[in-house]
Amino acid sequence: MTELDYSAMTPMMVQYWGMKQEHKDYLLFYRMGDFYELFFDDAVCASKALDIALTKRGKCEGQDIPMCGVPFHAYENYLSKLIRLGFKVAICEQIEDPKEAKKRGSKAVVNRAVVRLVTAGTLTEDNLLDSKRNNFILSISRISDSLGLSWLDVSTGEFFTQEILIEKNNEAMQLGAIFSRLSPVEIIVSDSFLQNKEIYSLFRDYRSQLSVLPQARFNYDNSLLRIKKNFNVDTLDSFGSFSKVEVVSAGVLLDYIENTQKGKMPRIETPIKLTLGQIMEIDGATRRSLELLESISGDKSSSLLSVIDMTSTGAGARLLSSRVASPLKDVAEINNRLDLIEYFVSSSSVRADLEKELKTCPDIERALSRLTIGRGGPRDMQNIKAALGLVPKVKNILANGSALLGGMPDVIEKLITKFGHHHNLVSNLEDALASELPMLARDGGFVKDGYFPPLDDIKAIKIDSNKFVLELQSKYSKETNIPQLKIKYNNVIGYFVEVPNRYTTEMLENTYFIHRQSVLSASRFTTVELTELENKIRGATDKALALELEIFNNLSVEVLSQSEAIAQTAKVLAEIDVSVSLAKLAVMNNYCRPIIDDSLSFEIKDGRHPVVEKAIAKDHAGSFVSNACNLNQGEQLWLITGPNMAGKSTFLRQNAIIAIMAQMGAYVPASYAHIGVINKLFSRVGASDDLAKGRSTFMVEMVETASILNQVDERSFVILDEIGRGTATYDGLSIAWAVVEHLHEVNKSRAIFATHYHELTTLTSKLKNMSLHCMRVKEFNDDVVFLHEVIAGAADRSYGIHVAKLAGLPSVVVKRAEQVLDSLENNNKKTSLGKIIEDLPLFAMVKEQELAKISLVEEALGLINPDDLSPREALEKIYELSKILKNS
Ligand code: ADP
Repeated sequence: MTELDYSAMTPMMVQYWGMKQEHKDYLLFYRMGDFYELFFDDAVCASKALDIALTKRGKCEGQDIPMCGVPFHAYENYLSKLIRLGFKVAICEQIEDPKEAKKRGSKAVVNRAVVRLVTAGTLTEDNLLDSKRNNFILSISRISDSLGLSWLDVSTGEFFTQEILIEKNNEAMQLGAIFSRLSPVEIIVSDSFLQNKEIYSLFRDYRSQLSVLPQARFNYDNSLLRIKKNFNVDTLDSFGSFSKVEVVSAGVLLDYIENTQKGKMPRIETPIKLTLGQIMEIDGATRRSLELLESISGDKSSSLLSVIDMTSTGAGARLLSSRVASPLKDVAEINNRLDLIEYFVSSSSVRADLEKELKTCPDIERALSRLTIGRGGPRDMQNIKAALGLVPKVKNILANGSALLGGMPDVIEKLITKFGHHHNLVSNLEDALASELPMLARDGGFVKDGYFPPLDDIKAIKIDSNKFVLELQSKYSKETNIPQLKIKYNNVIGYFVEVPNRYTTEMLENTYFIHRQSVLSASRFTTVELTELENKIRGATDKALALELEIFNNLSVEVLSQSEAIAQTAKVLAEIDVSVSLAKLAVMNNYCRPIIDDSLSFEIKDGRHPVVEKAIAKDHAGSFVSNACNLNQGEQLWLITGPNMAGKSTFLRQNAIIAIMAQMGAYVPASYAHIGVINKLFSRVGASDDLAKGRSTFMVEMVETASILNQVDERSFVILDEIGRGTATYDGLSIAWAVVEHLHEVNKSRAIFATHYHELTTLTSKLKNMSLHCMRVKEFNDDVVFLHEVIAGAADRSYGIHVAKLAGLPSVVVKRAEQVLDSLENNNKKTSLGKIIEDLPLFAMVKEQELAKISLVEEALGLINPDDLSPREALEKIYELSKILKNS
């Protein structure tokens, strides 16, 4: 709707439209009594998305106004569905009691206001969030050649910034890498940023995550002020040195959050600045091809993360996921993490005891965030109490375990000191909170008896009054001689005396009882005495609730005054969870501690692919064959040849995954691993279509290969699988050839290159650091068996035709392919393809031969009368038939 005639609208619709105009990009949930109602286009959209009825209410300019609604008490499910579908929702509440509005006149509209904007990146409710994933909202700013990135998780308070320098013509690729590392659920950019064509096309894939703001909001001075105000500081120096572009993105982000929460700022930790040097660089295509967080098909259950995640808590799972996404480069930091795991590997009882405790540990970071923005309830406090209450137990387990192991290692001691002391808070919460807690503070009944005597006194009045009600009931019943007389309560008329209809006249004659209501089978009355009692009860209930809310507020203040220390404890618990779970994984699967240093080594013994290994075990499809890989001095580049299905891709990927696991500080699936820190890891495995972006498979392959060759150096690790496959043979071979030479001569990276172009193996005489390897294959009775073993040397043939046979290609086609291959191999390269074609018998002839072979067998079969054959003769006949088949 555009131009509207407000004078023709009801006052309520005028109010609605005023709000809708201010929140055009949002679906407006307009509170009316027990429902959130949606109108006009919002209603049409939401009813379709939620599959709920579309009705109408009133008219606007002669047209029915479409309407749909969701019940207030169950709105979260609907909200979650809409947010997941990419909508944003503005929640508009009644901010006064309708009775107050009535005082202004019978037609007065209840005052309403938008109290919250719900977007994917600003959620805090547990049931709207994935407990195992961070829910990052990312903001991007740009000043000349720099990009400022800031991202935070409103539900946990974690906040980061990073600056990246734009490489010419590579901006979209750089951003793509960031997106796949952080998986942001919402991305804030300026309208002018989107004007770049490449960027615009990148964002097509992230359309539902985008929130576009006017460029004017990306202002440095305002952003600086915004950050200082949020953290209550005069300068940002104590946080680190942030560049201008980072400040802008961080300021815009904080502003956006405050706007969505309508002034209630959640707890946000001081920003941590990441620098390029800290994290192993892995681009989006590599992450996808290695299936780190989800498989190529988007399924999370067969990713690396899902296979190695044995954490017990949500916070632990989130930490593990961020470690998989961001492996480190600092040797000392990686070894610190490994030390912790080694400690837990050494004691299974410590591991088991900790795991038992951690399984009961609630998500305190998220509870804390909800309490900060006033969306928390008594159960959030209970969760904080329970988690902090675990600290002494965890400390004890670590102390006892260390005593048995002959002393507490430094890493554990350091961890324990970070725990802090929460004894007073825990015992206060323990004293204050009842054992059964309501979801919301406003439901009351969560304060333990004895915690606050004045509250107990008021509760006693309530209990006594309830007794009086019962006494009154029996008194009235006796006096009226109506045994069925009952005193009941409902929300509309409060307490009332109810009698079956047949006593109505009798009751109406009794002046003591005042008639209130008649329903189908009963009549309802009240008395002066009952009204007084009701007022007393209501007064006590209101007072008790007010006191409880005051207690809740006081407890909140106490909790929030210690939020930093509580969040720190949550982080330590998450770190213990991750370390214990990785230790458990290592022990269960026989992983080893990798040696990480500043060398250029890459040596793996008995390496395995954790995901393929698990899949094989699950399918009972034999066992995984482990393989060594040694890219040390003199053989930095391995060229692997071998047929399809022999295990080349698996081998390539397993080495990349081992590198990632090692640098995230985990044990690795191998018996030995020595890795000199890798700065950038690239994988180009298989060809993927990207038709949506208008690029052919081959184009994608080349764009990605180009980006690899332009970036990698001797500290990098590269795996390339079948580069050049996407074009004609000689083109492909030439490209693969040139890529291998470039990697060897210019990049000098540690690399594994798998190819079916055997011709490349001749390069070994020229490239001194290249080493030839192949997949071992056993030929057996004219068939091939893949042993999945990597051995030195080059494959002598590609066995492509065998694979085709295995795949069930019709036998005539297989036979024909064998003939073509034969001719191609016997005629050397000097012979033109045209000549070979002439020399080859026609396909039709092959077919005839095949058919002829079949008829010979058929002929022989036709001569057999099964009833005349002894078992021995039958066997002989089978041999004969088989011989005909082979010889023909
Ligand atoms: P290629 O890249 O040579 O075509 P893949 O790496 O895709 O072959 O492997 C094909 C299949 O072989 C995999 O799906 C897996 O089931 C099996 N496989 C691969 N490597 C191994 C191994 N080391 N041990 C056991 N099975 C393996």
